[in-house]
Amino acid sequence: MKKIFIFSIIVIFLVMFYTFSKNSFSLPKNNVIPNDNYEKAYVNSFTIYGRFFNLEGFISDKVDNLILVLKNDLSEDEYNLITNYDNEQTNFKTNDLINTGINLENILEGEYTILLKTIKEEDTIYYNLINQTKYSNLEYYTLTKNNSNNKIDITFNNYLTLTNKKTKLPSDYYDIIIDPGHGGKDVGANKNGYYESKINLEYATKLKNSLESIGYKVKLTRDKDITLPNYGDNSRVSVPYETKAKLMLSIHQNSGVGQINQGGFEVYVVNHTNYDFGNILVKNIQKYTSSPISKNVSYKIAPGVYLRTLNQNDLEEIKKDALKNNYIPYEKATLDSTYYFMIREVGGIITNSYVDLRNLEKPGNIYYDSNHGTEAYLLELGYMNSTSNLKIILEEKDKFVEAITTSVKEYLENN
Ligand SMILES: [Zn+2]
Repeated sequence: MKKIFIFSIIVIFLVMFYTFSKNSFSLPKNNVIPNDNYEKAYVNSFTIYGRFFNLEGFISDKVDNLILVLKNDLSEDEYNLITNYDNEQTNFKTNDLINTGINLENILEGEYTILLKTIKEEDTIYYNLINQTKYSNLEYYTLTKNNSNNKIDITFNNYLTLTNKKTKLPSDYYDIIIDPGHGGKDVGANKNGYYESKINLEYATKLKNSLESIGYKVKLTRDKDITLPNYGDNSRVSVPYETKAKLMLSIHQNSGVGQINQGGFEVYVVNHTNYDFGNILVKNIQKYTSSPISKNVSYKIAPGVYLRTLNQNDLEEIKKDALKNNYIPYEKATLDSTYYFMIREVGGIITNSYVDLRNLEKPGNIYYDSNHGTEAYLLELGYMNSTSNLKIILEEKDKFVEAITTSVKEYLENN
């Protein structure tokens, strides 16, 4: 009896300690408020692309060993910056490639002030960040893990703050969007009575179920054989923005003259990204399916990985279209812009989205100047015009889905 009593006391004590520590220790209060004694650093871009928060700016002085800190009463987490000194100012940025930078999935719960810092002759000098953009906040929901999510608010007032706390993911927000290419009147490629639009939908549905089975919250841009508009309400491009998705995969089947004998898999990436996800996909598709890697060399940047940007001719067509429809061509469509609209237009200002509302004849991309974008890839699973490749596309759906699911998990958990 006495033993049970002591045991109960210990259990009660442990429960109380756990509750207390959860409430008090893991959510440090933030009393770091920059005052006039702080030096100043000016921010001209702050964005989220996929899981990555990034900012860019300058200091009107030469500063060495500049780092970024997330600071509160208990901790100071440091992040490297890329800097260069030019024209009397130190320019700084948190990333080189848009799918790198500060991974929001790795930030501990709490409240922070974001500052820059340097150490000069043993003195620590802090720089307060001054907003020079038209944006004032960002809102991020972490990927669903064990049915649980966190919400991160990044707010720019007199200084930049970040808060990260547990939350319930709103019902209309998702982790991943799968876009079955084409649909309805637009059938895409076809061969022997098989239509790309229907194959894409079948793949996308299987992939959604598979990703949900490992815990992600997934939505399709279309779940029926319908003609889906590219822009406007509930369109292909709006869904990733409106659902705050971290990753978007657009599923397609290819067709072309050069590859009829063999065919093969191709993944198209956005400009200024690393190819980690593309490389992981290629590795797993080779492992799980009998699909060859495409022999196509146009726009190839690594085996099976492709990057197509706008060329001079594309730019002239864009200008012509603008003149015809009486609006000013968007100067951010350059030779640097990604060619495929679906992976370009869901990235907001980070990928130079440009289909804006100046074209009044049809609805444009109302999110073209969003500072929050979805990381996107376009997957051409195989060439339908190749008989042997079509056979693989039709017979190895589950194997492809397993390869893509494994790749998504690997990429989102480790990169
Ligand atoms: Zn297609």
